[in-house]
Amino acid sequence: MHFITTDLSLARKLDAQDELAGFREAFVIQDQNLIYLDGNSLGRLPRKAISTLQDGIERQWGERLIRAWNEGWIDAPRLLGAKIASLIGASDDEVLVTDATSINLFKLAVAALRRHPERRTLVSDVFNFPSDLYIFQGILDLLGERYRLELIPSRDGLTIDPQDLAQALNEDVALLSLSHVAFKSAFLYDMQAVTALAHQVGALVLWDLSHSAGVVPMDLDGWGVDLAVGCTYKYLNGGPGSPAFLFVKRQLREQLIPPLWGWFAAQSPFDFDLQFTPAPSISRFRVGTLPVLSMLALGPALDLVGEAGVDRLREKSVAQTEYLIYLAQQWLVPLGFSLGSPFQAGQRGSHVSLRHPEGYRICRALIESLPPAPVVIPDFRTPDNIRLGVAPLYTTFVEIHRALARLRVIVAEKLYEGYPHERLAVT
Ligand SMILES: *Cc1c(COP(=O)(O)O)cnc(C)c1O
Repeated sequence: MHFITTDLSLARKLDAQDELAGFREAFVIQDQNLIYLDGNSLGRLPRKAISTLQDGIERQWGERLIRAWNEGWIDAPRLLGAKIASLIGASDDEVLVTDATSINLFKLAVAALRRHPERRTLVSDVFNFPSDLYIFQGILDLLGERYRLELIPSRDGLTIDPQDLAQALNEDVALLSLSHVAFKSAFLYDMQAVTALAHQVGALVLWDLSHSAGVVPMDLDGWGVDLAVGCTYKYLNGGPGSPAFLFVKRQLREQLIPPLWGWFAAQSPFDFDLQFTPAPSISRFRVGTLPVLSMLALGPALDLVGEAGVDRLREKSVAQTEYLIYLAQQWLVPLGFSLGSPFQAGQRGSHVSLRHPEGYRICRALIESLPPAPVVIPDFRTPDNIRLGVAPLYTTFVEIHRALARLRVIVAEKLYEGYPHERLAVT
């Protein structure tokens, strides 16, 4: 998209033309003075989740009690998994909602490594989320350092060069595991091409979709992806700590032995057999009892993403991040900011990082502004990234305009100088 003016009227016009604008009404938005640009970390609360949770608490838990297990709770991981499957190009029986992303990553990575015991290398990249890398390091520690972890470097700090990726792949690689969208720079991999490249050397591929599910179209089945995990509280709006999901390609399922043998992974949990037999279905990757209430809130949240459609969400997201970058170039680069995300939309997820040496204090100033100035909520990622997340289900062009205008004032007038350098526990 090409923009010709920084005037607010353009943002208003783009909002008026936005066919997804109505979805904003489906969310709880009380304070119109609050500009929320952190939906990539914790999505907003869908209105419908309130009544769903109320029913879950008062009727299901309060009245139905244990009978509620047979009235929907037991099937929820599979049924919610099927809703997610439709958003990521998978089949209903290949996706399961369960546990946390980190735990799902552990289960699938161990199962994948054991599938190819003669291969000794696990490949990831320097952009991956630290929790993912810690899980891999823990697996290496657990398996007695039989394996080595290789991280693909970045030449420019924003992208991964396909040559460096190809260089890391060889016949010793058991598993390639990457985040589809990098949490800091928002670099977006070409999932189809990378998966094909890994398959050429016989490696399995495990994608972390935490920053792309619900906002970047993908076709896991069509592209032959082996394994994936992702969280549901970012662009999927499942709420704080909502359970994560995992994907296992159907043809691979029975060849993979899960490392955690909980009773819900068993073929017939209620036979209470003393010997474990893994379920033939994707349930073999379950472990124990899940947080039912958190799971219930996911249903209405996923339905909204499905109704809007990931293709349309991506189209709007690209227009919005391009608009954001245009305003940043006009207003903020002259004030010492630089772009911390790829400039090409095809290489970028749905957030934009803007870098500035005073990034942390600028973030504090955005969040702690007093009316009539808008309160803007981005987040901060060390050392100097202000991450601005665009959630096309509810973010408006006017909000982006107001947020960037506020950033300009804070830096031009050095308002951040009134805030401490010391960081809060959660940034
Ligand atoms: C958000 C995120 C996670 C979160 O992991 P949890 O175990 O759910 O806390 C993991 N990986 C990536 C890439 C993420 O973006």
